[in-house]
Amino acid sequence: MEADRRSGVTPPVMADLTVETAATCAQNIFWVRMVPSASDPKVQYRVEWGPTDWGARHAYGWSCTCPAFHRSKTKTCKHIDAVKGERCRWNSHFEPGYGLGPSDRCPDCHGPLHFLRVGV
Ligand SMILES: [Zn+2]
Ligand SMILES: [Zn+2]
Repeated sequence: MEADRRSGVTPPVMADLTVETAATCAQNIFWVRMVPSASDPKVQYRVEWGPTDWGARHAYGWSCTCPAFHRSKTKTCKHIDAVKGERCRWNSHFEPGYGLGPSDRCPDCHGPLHFLRVGV
C-alpha cells in the first residue's frame, strides 16, 4: 500500500469526494452579548452562545451569568430570550449551492465564517 501511495496513482486529497467543506457563521460557534438587569441597570449579565459541557459533546447552547439561569432546569432565562434572535445563524447547509472561498464573509451578517471539513 505504501508503494502505491508513492507511485502517484492515488488521487490527491483535494479530489476526495467523501469530504466536503462546510461553512458556518462564526456566530454559530461563539457569541456574547452583555444584557443589563431589568431590576438594576448597573448590573450586566453576560449571555453567551458556545460549546456546552452540560449536554452532549460538541453541543452548543446558551448560558447566562444571572442567578435565574443557574436556578433554571431548562437552562434559559429572560436575558437569553431577549437577545437570542440577534445572533446570526447562517450555515452553508441552508444554501447548498453557495460558492465558498477562504476569504468569504457570512452572507447574512458579513462577519467571519468558520470552516469545517465534513465527511459525507
Ligand atoms: Zn439571565
Ligand atoms: Zn453571520
